[in-house]
Amino acid sequence: MSFDIVVIGAGPAGLCFTRSLAGSGLRVALVERQEEAALSAPADDGREIAITHHSRRLLRELGLWARLREEEIGTLRDAMVLDGDDRDGLMFRHGEAGTEQLGWLLSNHAIRRAAYEEVMALPEVERITGVRVEAVRTGNEGAEVVLGNGDTLRASLLVAADSRFSETRRAMGIAADMRDFGKTMLVLRMRHQVPHEQVAWEWFGHGQTLALLPLHDAHTSSVVLTLAPPAMRELLALDDAALEAALAERFGQRLGTMTVAGPRCTYPLVGVYAKRFVAERFALLGDAAVGMHPVTAHGFNFGLLGEDLLARELRAARAAGQSIAAPALLARYERRLRLATRPLYLATNALAGLYTDDRRPARALRKLALGAGARLSPFRRMVMSGLTAEHGGIPAPLRRLRPPRWV
Ligand SMILES: Cc1cc2nc3c(=O)[nH]c(=O)nc-3n(C[C@H](O)[C@H](O)[C@H](O)COP(=O)(O)OP(=O)(O)OC[C@H]3O[C@@H](n4cnc5c(N)ncnc54)[C@H](O)[C@@H]3O)c2cc1C
Repeated sequence: MSFDIVVIGAGPAGLCFTRSLAGSGLRVALVERQEEAALSAPADDGREIAITHHSRRLLRELGLWARLREEEIGTLRDAMVLDGDDRDGLMFRHGEAGTEQLGWLLSNHAIRRAAYEEVMALPEVERITGVRVEAVRTGNEGAEVVLGNGDTLRASLLVAADSRFSETRRAMGIAADMRDFGKTMLVLRMRHQVPHEQVAWEWFGHGQTLALLPLHDAHTSSVVLTLAPPAMRELLALDDAALEAALAERFGQRLGTMTVAGPRCTYPLVGVYAKRFVAERFALLGDAAVGMHPVTAHGFNFGLLGEDLLARELRAARAAGQSIAAPALLARYERRLRLATRPLYLATNALAGLYTDDRRPARALRKLALGAGARLSPFRRMVMSGLTAEHGGIPAPLRRLRPPRWV
């Protein structure tokens, strides 16, 4: 079977990228190992994704936003960062950015569902689900993907969006920097007595990191707790009533009574940055290229940025009758995505390291960092513009070079 592009991985990044190519004239095969039923009704994985203004614009253009139900969209008005036992933290207010809110919160499974619905409506996309990828090859002549059912797919370009632990990246011989933070993150939706007032909390306590992400309902939030694995195992052994009491205690009773309102989902914390994003007739996308630590809430936002950059390049090449796998095109994609993501990837790892280290020098350093952050307006501006800017962090000279999306 022959296509213009084979995409491996129908996660949020692979789906949004496939949707971005709609109407371009490019024939796409989307390969996913999960079954169709799991893709059309994705399971709740507990993740609430903070969406920047730039990402929201892209989700609107892709038609996903209109497919989200009102109760699936949370408002991220302001954000507060607390350190240790401090009662007053560093506050990031929407007003400083000149916007009505800092961002939005969407459930990951709602994003996946909406993206899948969009892709299902595309006649030029062949969905190949419930299959394993046995082998991939790319060369001068084209790309080939051998599936577990014996079929071989041929294409001009292969795009891998198959998670931060991408098997395709490895099969293509592309190495990645990986940082294992040695911690586990629990995400759990909870109802609480005190309203959240649409303020997100990031609380760096001693021996734990806690976050609260405000959801649509004023008394429901996503609780995000990072602990060392043994402590997390102990916590997860508790029944709901004991877990609720333990979490209310960890929040210093600031939210009043808390009750479990969703599944308990845990994730190992590993940051991944591929050494290269492209190879001959090949590109990495989403977490397969840049797998962020969730503390700065940018993984999917970068996934959207990347799919938009690559899709624009491909559409422009197709419209001009040029090769969609030209080395210069792929090199441009790599350069732009690297420039837009590398600084925050490194800063996030440094921050995550600093805030999960409870030794005295680290504690002192973060007190200093938070104090400076509260006072220095350039630092505040950098954080605020990461959330609220419409350009998604792409440096100004590169923005001018981007081809328009709808060529
Ligand atoms: C707890 C948590 C909180 C987060 N919060 C935020 C946030 O606030 N903001 C934000 O922007 N990001 C956030 N993220 C990151 C965000 O969830 C990810 O960046 C995003 O889901 C990555 O999408 P993806 O499509 O690249 O990869 P994935 O979601 O991992 O999807 C990969 C897909 O590829 C498929 N696949 C894998 N291997 C193969 C194969 N060999 N063959 C076929 N198919 C395959 C998988 O089945 C899957 O469907 C968070 C992440 C976590 C864990």
